[in-house]
Amino acid sequence: MQRYPIHSAGTSERERFPLSAINQYLYCPRRAALIHVEGTFTDNEHTLIGSQFHEQADLPGYEKAADTEMLRALPIWSQRLGLSGKCDIVEVKFKRPSKRKKSRYLPENVESVYPVEYKKGKRRKFDNDDAQLCAQALCLEEMFGQEIPQGAIFHASSKRRREVEFTEDLRRLTEQAIEAMHRLIEEEAVPQAVHKPQCSECSLFDHCLPEITSVPPTLVRAYRAVFDTTD
Ligand code: SF4
Repeated sequence: MQRYPIHSAGTSERERFPLSAINQYLYCPRRAALIHVEGTFTDNEHTLIGSQFHEQADLPGYEKAADTEMLRALPIWSQRLGLSGKCDIVEVKFKRPSKRKKSRYLPENVESVYPVEYKKGKRRKFDNDDAQLCAQALCLEEMFGQEIPQGAIFHASSKRRREVEFTEDLRRLTEQAIEAMHRLIEEEAVPQAVHKPQCSECSLFDHCLPEITSVPPTLVRAYRAVFDTTD
């Protein structure tokens, strides 16, 4: 499996940021920076429903069957990627039933690890949700020492799961978003607003004021054409 280099030369471990920032970054890099660089956050109906919904999934616990354990609100992290967070559900299937709890989670005893992320709303595919789930899988791969080929998003309104395959393309998108997020945090950069359809659902709309703070791309290109003298 290909791994994309994340650490810049000479750094042992980057400061960890929360997994949810990947979702926010792919929704809008400026939103991610306003939250994680500037520390600005406001709720709206969408974020409030999302938080309420996650309150239930965030209660730690587990359910057990002979060869499977379902772990709720499992803390996860990746040293390689500089990430930390929680998985709503992780389904761990074991190769054989065992009463020896300590050795149960050794890589040779685990058959599969399957993350499930809960999302409010109907069954719909969003790249930012898939990348957040993929980032969870990358953390779990590091923690469990085995490849995780797929997981699922549970859509609350339609009460249906959507299976997500962790393809090379999705892994690349996810690791690129992680790298870009690290750069924003390290450089304390907040990108320029781009006024787009998603802005109408963004809880930071009144803080960001994209209608005023965004610059039309045509104007940016025209400005660069006239003033950019770099080769
Ligand atoms: S209002 Fe639009 S540009 Fe501003 S942070 Fe939200 S999504 Fe991004």
